[in-house]
This record gives sequence, C-alpha cells and structure tokens, in this order.
Amino acid sequence: MGAQKTKYKVERFKMWEEAKQLKNKFFHDYKDIKKKGGLRILSGTAISLTFSAGFTDALIMGAEPFSANIAFDIDFCLKCLEECERRGMSREICGYSKCAWGAMFLNENVMPDGTRVDEWLKPDLTTNFSIAPCHNKWFQYLSEKGGVPFYLFDLPKAYPYNTENVINYVSNQVLDYIEWAEKTLNRTFDDEAFIEGVINETRSFKIWTEIMLLNQAVPAPLDEKSLFSFVGPNLSIPYKKEAGEFYARLLDETRDRVERKVAAVGNEQFRVITDAIPPWPNLKLYRYMEEKYGVVVVGSPYVICLIGAWMFDKDKNLIPTPTPEEAGMKLDTREDAVRALVWYKTHFATETLYNIACGEVLHEVALAIARQWKADGGILHQNRGCTMQALGSIESRNALAEAGIPCINYEGNDADPREVDLTNLKRKVDIFLEANKVKRLDT
Ligand code: SF4
Repeated sequence: MGAQKTKYKVERFKMWEEAKQLKNKFFHDYKDIKKKGGLRILSGTAISLTFSAGFTDALIMGAEPFSANIAFDIDFCLKCLEECERRGMSREICGYSKCAWGAMFLNENVMPDGTRVDEWLKPDLTTNFSIAPCHNKWFQYLSEKGGVPFYLFDLPKAYPYNTENVINYVSNQVLDYIEWAEKTLNRTFDDEAFIEGVINETRSFKIWTEIMLLNQAVPAPLDEKSLFSFVGPNLSIPYKKEAGEFYARLLDETRDRVERKVAAVGNEQFRVITDAIPPWPNLKLYRYMEEKYGVVVVGSPYVICLIGAWMFDKDKNLIPTPTPEEAGMKLDTREDAVRALVWYKTHFATETLYNIACGEVLHEVALAIARQWKADGGILHQNRGCTMQALGSIESRNALAEAGIPCINYEGNDADPREVDLTNLKRKVDIFLEANKVKRLDT
C-alpha cells in the first residue's frame, strides 16, 4: 500500500478485524441460540434494542442489520428479491423488507462469512418502531406470514419536539410491551439487567459521538466505508459492556491516528458527505472515488447518528446529547430507565432524523455535518430502496448548494443491486468532480 507514495500516512485499522469477528460471532450466536434453550427476538434498532434487554436468555437481532446482511450477499439477496417478485411484489417495494420476506419465504439465510443456513432463523417474537409507517408494515407482514407474535410501536415526531407528552407516550408503550412480552415469551423481565443495559447503551453511543468528532480532523482518520464496519456492536449488543469496551478502544485508536496524522484516504484532497444508507451491493463506488480522486467520505447524517445521539446547540451546531447519567436523570427503576432511554434516543439518534425527528430538520443536520466535518462537497444517495430515507434528500442537496457547498444526488438502492448502474454512476461522479476541479490522480 506504499505509504511513502501518498500525501498522508495510511495504516490498516487495528480494530477492523475485531469488528468483523464480533459481527460474525453475533450472527452465529443468534443462529445457534435455540439449541442452547435461548430465545430469538428480532427488533428494529430505531429506537432501541435495549427495551428487550431484560430477557437475559434472548439474543436480540436488529431488523435492519438482519436485512443489510442479506443485501451484502448479492447472490442470496437477488434470490430473496426474486422470490418476493415471483409472489407479485413490485420492484419499488422496500429492499430491506423484501430481503427479510424473501429469506422467510425461502426458509434460508446467510451468515456474514457467506455460510448459507437452511432456515430463515425464525424469531420467537418481533417488535418494531414506526420510524416510518412502512417500517411497521414490514414487520406486520413478516410476522403474520411467519407466524411470529409481534408488538409494533407508534412513534410521534421527536426531536426537536421531544416534549413530556412525547416521552410519556412512547415510554408507556415500552412499559406495555415489556409486560406483553413477559406473557408472550413466558419469561420474567430482569429489571436490573435492563437498567444496566440502558447505562451501557447510552455510554457506548456517547463514545461514538466522540469518535465522530475526531473525524473532523484533516486528514480524516476514518472514511465512511470503514465506519460501516464499526457500527456492528452498537447495532447488535449496545446493552452489553463489551460494546462500550470495543468503542473505547476504537476511540483510543482514532485519537492516536489523529495525533499522528494517519489518514483513511492517503491522498485526501476532497472531503464529501453523503446522506443515507449506502447502496450496500455497490460500495465499489467509494473505492473508485478514493483511488481516482482522493475523495474521502467523512460521514453522513446516517452513519454519524446511527449509533450516536446528537442535538443542536444555539448556533445549530451538532453536539453530543449528554447521557441520562450526565443529565442527572434517575435510573433506579424500570420506569426510570425506560423514560431515560426514550428521552436520549428521541434526539437525533439511530434513524430518527429522517422521519420522526421530521423531514424539515434533516437538511439542517446535513448542512451542520457538511460545515463541521469540513466537507468540500456532497454526493447524496437518493435511496430508492427506502422511500422514507429518500424524503428530504433533495432539500438537503438544496441546503448545501445554497450554503455554497457543491452537491449532487444520485439514485441508488440500499438493497437491490439491479437498481444501480455503476458505470453511469461513476461517469456522473467524474463530471461532478471535474466540474469542481478535483484533480484525477491517475492521469
Ligand atoms: S422503506 Fe425504509 S422505512 Fe420503509 S420499511 Fe423499508 S427500510 Fe423501513
């Protein structure tokens, strides 16, 4: 990798291998837990997996990582999509939904290491949150067809409207869910484990915000593609201490890289932001921009908020939301912990900013990120695979352009590889970068 030939030093992240192993282990544990007498819960990650953390013999798989993992495996992903289409579903229907439904119809699945599994890993219970109405429809359909008990949450608009009423409304649903799940699973909910889970999750999320702030450095120590490799622990075991320990080590490594000016992209010369879930089967686009143009993708509202919680200061800068402990909230009972977690996660956290935080602020978040992370431009993904995420993307492009930050949207799909024409997409990126006088590195 010729460190001496690049503008900045480059080194492989030490934590990368650990992240990969943790992810693979988690999926295998989820697959095998029934043999050990445990339970599987499949739950939306937004707002939180931790609401189920009091069921201590259960493993809680995130709905979105479950489908993203299928989307990564192009052959199996296509098989799932085509199975849904064979049953009459159209191409426009949500890619993540079709990945999960397809796996269920086929009764097959795949592990992150490519191992095929001859069952879809039917859960004992599912739960999801209406970050968009279709997000709950995804799980209603999955659960009805799969014969799985389900509990769906109605989420109102959140930050900046997370008032007492909103917090009470969501908290009461969580408390109701816990009682319902106890009866449905025939298990007692362990309040102590849950409270510890809330403390662990909010601490881990806070560390992620600190890592993200370090990525404002020039050169950026992390590019978005690497960040995707590191989101796993907070999307699978945020309620466990191990997640916090993982992020504490990642924070140390990132800080060290900033101090030594070790870059994610050795020839960093143009910093951009994106805005949504990437086209998972076409991440080659990132490598192309990096190698041909020295483009580093420094982050996006998606990856920066996915496993961190943020709020605006009075100047509309994004700052980390204090954890409930830092905010002095009580954490003595189940009710306290539910309330604290709902309060924390109804800021800009997980995917709340695309929907329940309301479309009208998404572009303000995109603009704040572009400014604070020192972006020279924006290359925004109009994600046709998730209509919820695509809402507001044009406004984000306009907000950046009005602030003098050149920006384009491209159409793609987080899950369906057939929806991205990579050759034309590269050409579009070439034109954008050439128009902004970004020198090609291979000429
Ligand atoms: S389109 Fe987006 S919000 Fe709707 S179900 Fe799919 S992933 Fe969820």
